[in-house]
Amino acid sequence: MSLPDGSHRNYWFVRFITAVLIFTSASLLYAQASVLDTAEQRADALLKQMTLEEKIGQLNQGAGFPLPGAPTADAQVRKGLAGSILWVSEPSAINRLQKMAVTESRLHIPLLIGLDVIHGYHTIFPPPLAMSATWDPKLVEQAQTIAAREARSTGINWTFAPMVDIARDARWGRMVEGAGEDPYLGAIMAKAQVRGFQGPELGAPDHVLACVKHFAAYGAADGGRDYDSSYVADDLLWNVYFPPFKAAVDAGVGSLMSAYMDLNSVPATGNYFLLQDVLRKDWKFNGFVVSDAMAIGSLVTHGYAKDRADAAYKAFHAGVNMDMASYTYLNELAKLVKAGRVTEAQIDAMVMPILVAKFKLGLFENSYIDESKIAGVMNDPASAQLARQAAQKSMVLLKNDGQMLPLDKSGKKYLSIAVIGPVADSGPAQVGFWGGMITGGSDVVTVVAGIKAKVGTGLRVEYAKGPNIRRVIPSTFDGLPSIKLHDQPVQSAAVAQAAFDEAVATAKRNDLVVLVLGEEALMAGEAASNGTLRLAGRQQELMQAVVATGKPVVLVLINGRPLDIAWAAENVPAILEAWEPGSQGGHAVADVLFGDANPGGKLTVTWPRIGGQSPLYYAHTLTHQPETAPDFKSRYQDMKSTPLYPFGYGLSYTKFTVNNLQLSKPTKKVGETIGVSADVQNIGSVAGDEVVQLYIHQQYGSASRPVRQLKGFEKVTLAPGEKKTVHFTLGKDELTYWSPVDKKWVLEPSVFDVWAGGDSTATLHGTFEVVQ
Ligand code: BGC
Repeated sequence: MSLPDGSHRNYWFVRFITAVLIFTSASLLYAQASVLDTAEQRADALLKQMTLEEKIGQLNQGAGFPLPGAPTADAQVRKGLAGSILWVSEPSAINRLQKMAVTESRLHIPLLIGLDVIHGYHTIFPPPLAMSATWDPKLVEQAQTIAAREARSTGINWTFAPMVDIARDARWGRMVEGAGEDPYLGAIMAKAQVRGFQGPELGAPDHVLACVKHFAAYGAADGGRDYDSSYVADDLLWNVYFPPFKAAVDAGVGSLMSAYMDLNSVPATGNYFLLQDVLRKDWKFNGFVVSDAMAIGSLVTHGYAKDRADAAYKAFHAGVNMDMASYTYLNELAKLVKAGRVTEAQIDAMVMPILVAKFKLGLFENSYIDESKIAGVMNDPASAQLARQAAQKSMVLLKNDGQMLPLDKSGKKYLSIAVIGPVADSGPAQVGFWGGMITGGSDVVTVVAGIKAKVGTGLRVEYAKGPNIRRVIPSTFDGLPSIKLHDQPVQSAAVAQAAFDEAVATAKRNDLVVLVLGEEALMAGEAASNGTLRLAGRQQELMQAVVATGKPVVLVLINGRPLDIAWAAENVPAILEAWEPGSQGGHAVADVLFGDANPGGKLTVTWPRIGGQSPLYYAHTLTHQPETAPDFKSRYQDMKSTPLYPFGYGLSYTKFTVNNLQLSKPTKKVGETIGVSADVQNIGSVAGDEVVQLYIHQQYGSASRPVRQLKGFEKVTLAPGEKKTVHFTLGKDELTYWSPVDKKWVLEPSVFDVWAGGDSTATLHGTFEVVQ
């Protein structure tokens, strides 16, 4: 290269300075390595500079709140001893921690900031169980997109969701966090949520890292008792409990949480079969696994690990990358390396996917958030609008005798409404446990507020709370400083009685009663299992007293699981399941009660008559005396064994018919598909939504197959009189199952029943045969 005189020196000077700069900043600014490098290459380059201690630090998730005996979050972050911090939600605190990580720790590695953003951050949507009742994966994806955007704007970049545990026992408190009892629907909802949280790919702007949990079979806890062991046969693991996890992995979920409980006597957090054989070898999961909170330390408590060193060893070898807040890895892993029980190469392999996730999320480039933009994100009116719509669509009309609903708001039929019940005006109950953890249950449109806003000055609305409801046994979470969920203080018997009398008197002096019963926030969710499904406190008695006044009564339920409403099903003319309807829930309830929205939600859990029937689910196998047999009476001698309301059930203000089932051929070869169609028509006088559901049953094979299995659905909105043909395809994915005899996936020649209709008891039937 020829350069003008003197430029040579300059040139080499510039080259020298550049080289020095590159060299000195390489360790500081490796993260700004060519953006063309893949996340994997960048992670690899970074890993090479890390000490063993720093690597182990990345495997540690520190608590953002003080934990006895643990170093403070600041101390861990400064020394590069935390890959992640959980449960910090104050944006300035998050920025402060990130700054500490990026500027003070030796390698300047930003933090994953994790929180349970389960159904919203500021805008609280109905919980996953309710959202699944919309049967609308697009809506579910949109809701989680908003949740991700709001959370990310505050600096949270990792959500511990979606929770995809199949739940068939309504006593289990965490049923509310998942999509119900069905693996097919559960898989669809799992995918939709991963897409919503993460966007089209991990690292999409305004999105977060998702974490599918709790692997696996947490929902099968014995007796529905939270954290109790699950004993689940292989057949059910593969065919029922695994599919939503597999769907999330296929959708590219970046992380997975191991569960707390023993699965078939081996704790899920030390379970090689789950975390290696299934997750990594079979499903090729390449993200990272985080334990549930303290679960590695708890391997000692389980009686599975000898001591904490052994716990670290067992969890590590099973495949848990990150220790959530038990500090077992931080304290024990280096010693295990020294003792030769764990190699540094194994540590590297565990750290890699965590670093890759951080690079993909863009944390090295954008470590901080702009706090001035948060309010704009939170106050987007479109988000509130979507929350209201989601709540409307998630509600399930369980009963509507004599078309009592929708109510008239013109003042022609009634002049006044009494809104009665302990959760009628409760923000925390409406947003539930996780919604309340973040928001404290404020900024909520309650049912009372929603009804008042709806009727304006046209009707008089009078509210009476009745006696408070409270958990019989306090929650483990009661003591957490972030818990602001109680709005039902303990009352003396006399105060409760006065509230009871006042509620009944309020019913008497009004023309119509909207009775709002259910659960307060800490009655559903984690550590909130029930021995019975009875209405808490004096609610049953209150309902009977209110009905006894002779006033027309509508029952609205605010809750996170089916409750024992057998008496109401006999004695109250209209029942609306509103779940925990979220921050806009009161408007949505009023929209539905007064007919501005037509309910179209359908149950995604079978509704038992009493808790004693649990677990209860539609996809049980046939027995020697099926429920369809002419001489069938009940499996119990003291009551009906069938549910109060079946899976897939839900009424509308209009009526639909489903008929003309067509199969494209009567017989198909194993490798072929078969087309199924049916006509659905709105035969009522208002527009409405119907979910046409397709169920199959394999009549014989290497194992008994469930009496019915959902294998397709389509949600349609039809104007009065409108008719539509819906189409489904049944092929390999729908007809294959994991055979407990062959110990592999099989598609067997057999005769298959097909049903199409509005719930799992649909009678429109056809058959086809699969031949070799
Ligand atoms: C729950 C998880 C949750 C974690 C962190 C645990 O107690 O089981 O679902 O993600 O806490 O909040």
